[in-house]
Amino acid sequence: MKALVYDGVEDLQYREMPDPVAKPGQQLIKVESVGICGSDMHAYLGHDDRRPAPLILGHEAAGTIVGGLRNGERVTVNPLVTCGVCAACTSGRDNLCPERLIISMPPREGAFAQYVVMRDENLVTVPDHVSLDAACLAEPIACGWHTVRLALETLNGASDSALVIGGGAIGLGAALSLTAQGVGDVTIVEPNALRRDVLNGVCGQMSIAPDDLPDDALFDLVVDGVGYAATRAVASAHARPGGVIGHIGLGEGEGGLDVRRMTLQEITFIGTYTYTAQDFRDTAAAMFDGRLGALDWTQARELADGAEAFADIRAGRTAAPKIVLNP
Ligand SMILES: [Zn+2]
Ligand SMILES: [Zn+2]
Repeated sequence: MKALVYDGVEDLQYREMPDPVAKPGQQLIKVESVGICGSDMHAYLGHDDRRPAPLILGHEAAGTIVGGLRNGERVTVNPLVTCGVCAACTSGRDNLCPERLIISMPPREGAFAQYVVMRDENLVTVPDHVSLDAACLAEPIACGWHTVRLALETLNGASDSALVIGGGAIGLGAALSLTAQGVGDVTIVEPNALRRDVLNGVCGQMSIAPDDLPDDALFDLVVDGVGYAATRAVASAHARPGGVIGHIGLGEGEGGLDVRRMTLQEITFIGTYTYTAQDFRDTAAAMFDGRLGALDWTQARELADGAEAFADIRAGRTAAPKIVLNP
């Protein structure tokens, strides 16, 4: 098969790779849409020790099952494989499984390829009225869905207002999840003006520049979809007393939180990683019944042109919240 292979820092080659083979309990999937994630960018730039070259990146995939009893079924892929039997898995927190393994990290090749294999229980059937370019968004949106669910549980379901920091796919996914889970007033802060135009236009969001966020604005819930010291400083300044910060971004490990204010104002900080299998299914269901909007804000390109897409994202030449590659 052809695959877009990460061969070294800023070096992606579209070349021949061995076909993956489905083992019992797995399906071979012809990949039709696969999103480029921030974590793929980190790996491409050589910033992720967990993803050494050569490796097929990509974990946001949708496609069609080839062969077997489910031949021809259109599916979106939950790329996170967990053991199913440990304390985390059996208590509904399977994303914290010590054995968790996401495709695009060794030993599992990713989905920037014509084919990928995945076990049955990680595949969610996509109804005919949903495009596969939209269906592959289940993965990035599920990250925000999970964060919002945990934050609302902490707030006992009562949240009128939320601030989302960062208007990339993670931030946008969080904003859409907030609306779908009943939070009325959602504001996204995004420094890039081109991106704000897309958020406010195509995506129907309320997006503002950081300078336009009033110093005294307070929100029940703040989602940090970026994860740098500077964004955490914004999060801890703008959560209301008794509010919650949901932290998804993996930008840098330290700095930014005003722990004194968080202590005096009893602000809860929740670090969140990916999604549970149930969150993934719930996100897909919300997507299929239209609660996450039209999901027409992706930009599609050929997988063969993937290297150019990475370079364009790197150079800030793309305003679309998500580029989807079509093998
Ligand atoms: Zn991702
Ligand atoms: Zn487990």
